[in-house]
Formats: sequence, C-alpha cells, structure tokens
Amino acid sequence: MSKPQCHVAIIGAGLGGLAAAIGIARAGHKVTIIEQATALGEVGVGIQIPPNSSRILRRYGLLNKIEAVSARPKDFILRSYKDGAMLSRQNMLPYAVNTYGNPYLHIHRADYHKILAQEAHRLGVSIQLGSTVTAINFETPAVHIKGKLDFRADIVVGVDGLKSLTGDLAYRIVVKAEDMVTHENPRELVNNPAINYWMGLNAHAVCYLLKGGGLYNIVLACPDNLPELVNTQAADIQEMRDFFAKWDPRLKTLLSIVQETSKWRLQNSEEMKKWSHPSGKFALLGDACHATLPYLAQGAAMAVEDGAVLGTLMEKLGDKAQLKDVLVIYEKLRKERTTHVVKSSRSRTS
Ligand SMILES: Cc1cc2nc3c(=O)[nH]c(=O)nc-3n(C[C@H](O)[C@H](O)[C@H](O)COP(=O)(O)OP(=O)(O)OC[C@H]3O[C@@H](n4cnc5c(N)ncnc54)[C@H](O)[C@@H]3O)c2cc1C
Repeated sequence: MSKPQCHVAIIGAGLGGLAAAIGIARAGHKVTIIEQATALGEVGVGIQIPPNSSRILRRYGLLNKIEAVSARPKDFILRSYKDGAMLSRQNMLPYAVNTYGNPYLHIHRADYHKILAQEAHRLGVSIQLGSTVTAINFETPAVHIKGKLDFRADIVVGVDGLKSLTGDLAYRIVVKAEDMVTHENPRELVNNPAINYWMGLNAHAVCYLLKGGGLYNIVLACPDNLPELVNTQAADIQEMRDFFAKWDPRLKTLLSIVQETSKWRLQNSEEMKKWSHPSGKFALLGDACHATLPYLAQGAAMAVEDGAVLGTLMEKLGDKAQLKDVLVIYEKLRKERTTHVVKSSRSRTS
C-alpha cells in the first residue's frame, strides 16, 4: 500500500519552523511555511549548536555545510567576573565528539538560517513570506492570513515563537576579531577558541568566536529594565559599560570596542497543559510551546529535535486518519524532555 502524502502548514520560518519543515519534507510530505516577515533572515549574532542538534543536522546531510562556516570551541572556561581568573576548564573539542559522537559548534545565526532555508527549498518546501496569521480554525483546519485567502492543509504546526516575561535581558553583540587583537588583554580570547563564561552576581557574560574566528559573539545577561511590552530595543552602550564596569578588565576593554548593541528580553514559558488541539489537526513546536532561557544553549536545539521527532513519526504514517495519533505521540515524546530543559535553564538564572 502506498503511503499517503499529507499537506502540512507551518506557521513561522524561524530556526524551529525551518528545521520542522525539513524533518517533515524528508518524510515525503508537502510543506508550506507561512511567515509574517517579508524577507527570510535571523538577527546578526551567534548561536551555539550543541551535539544533540549537530547529530540531527548530520542525519539531514547538512553538517558539512554547517561546519564549513562554524567555529569549534576547544574549551569551556568558567571565569570569575571580577578579574577573569579561570575557575574551571572543560576540554570541549574531543569531549563532545568522544562523548556524543557529534561536534559542539558556534555559528552565525544568518548562516544557520540560510543553510536550513536552502535545504527546505531543495526539498520542495514552499515559503509564503509577508503572510501574518491572525487566527486558526482548528477543525478544518484553516489558517486565516491578514488580507489574504485562508490557507488549508491536513495539519497545522504553530512555530511562531513566544513572548512572555522573565526577570533578565541580554545584550547581544558581535565585534570583529581584528578590532580585538589590537588590544593586548582581549587578544588571548581570539587566539584560543573557547566558550568563555564569566559568572557574576545577578549577571553573566558568555563569549565565543564565529565565522572561523573572524567575529567574536558576546551575550551579556543582566536584570531586565526594558519598558513593559517592549521585547527588544537598541541599547545605550554607556549603560551597558557602566553595568559591567567592575568586571574583568579584559571584558571592559572588549566592551570599549563595541559600536552598537541591542537589548533582548529573555523569555521562558511555563509548561503548557497541551501542545496539540483535540481536533488532532494542530500542534505547537519550538519556542511557541517551550521557550527557554538561553543559559543551556538549548532553545533552538530543542526545536530541531521536535522537528526530527515529528518528521520521523510522519514517515511511519500509513493512513491520514493516523495524523491525530501522530500529534499525540509527538507531544508525549517531547513535552517531558523540553520541560526538563526549560526548568534546568531557569535554575541557572543569574
Ligand atoms: C540571547 C539568546 C541566546 C540564545 N542562544 C541559543 C543557543 O546558543 N543555542 C540554542 O539552541 N538556542 C539559543 N537560543 C534560543 C533560540 O534562539 C530559540 O529557541 C529559537 O530561535 C526559537 O526558534 P522558533 O522558530 O521556535 O521561534 P522564533 O525564532 O521566534 O521564530 C518564530 C517565527 O514565527 C514568525 N511569526 C510570529 N508570529 C507570526 C504570525 N502571526 N504569522 C506568521 N508568522 C509569524 C516570526 O516572524 C518568526 O520568524 C537563544 C536565545 C536568546 C534570546
């Protein structure tokens, strides 16, 4: 008996939406992504790809492309915020591969997004840009799009991210490595590819190289002072420098190089009762159902895992009537694990 081909509508073309599209399209199904933005892209900062994610990217045949534009940290270095003294050092380079069989990588988000989008296109995924979803009919199912005709599919997957409030924000910064090496004290950070993690009171800093060592990614997490309902805005560089003024002199020099930065409210969701609708025709995926604080670098990795699980289940589909069961099993397989990651990340709140 030939397998049925389903049409899956995915709302959102972020890293989660694209990864899910790849997983589902690889299982032989038709996928349309509906995205409100008018152009595809990610913010110009870095992201860590842990081995649980690189394992799936390898299975998708994308790891070589990803590695070609990534940096590999040699060490994970935990530092005192005051003077930068090394508190612990974990060797990452053989550790990740020896322990998990796959690498730990640092990549520019735009590169990651582009590689996933290219692969989605190659697999025949259609992406409808400039389409803002305003409502969903869960029974049909149909997606209502602002100013356009309703879109119908066999199932709809909501991967539209989440906005909820917590007590931290992050400054997200990228500086050129060539601007760092002219200063003596941050030079060592460029010469030794590592995740440098400064722990302080109510705040921490995480830094790593991108683009084969050409860029340095800096994330500074500290208490949230963004206005209500504002999730991201351009930041006052002096305010940022003042907050970290008493930290490791290397970090201070690094921040003196920064030309511009933005503040992002860090998001963390409470565990939802259900991810799927009783109609069996709608489910959530990625940040939309398990937004996590970035302190374990696992948010996008969890979305990539979600997509791989959903794709694998859809590969087994023998009849469209089983779609409801697929969504129930997907939720059962993913909810506990993602809740554990969200809670573990929260327990690391600075
Ligand atoms: C500072 C920081 C550092 C991080 N570092 C890491 C890391 O190192 N490793 C890691 O794995 N994760 C990390 N994360 C988490 C990661 O960025 C997110 O988990 C991931 O990007 C979520 O992807 P998503 O596709 O679920 O959601 P999003 O990226 O939010 O994508 C949602 C998409 O849906 C679209 N959309 C929204 N509403 C609508 C609508 N109504 N109609 C149509 N389209 C819509 C949006 O335009 C967007 O394109 C970090 C997060 C932060 C804030």
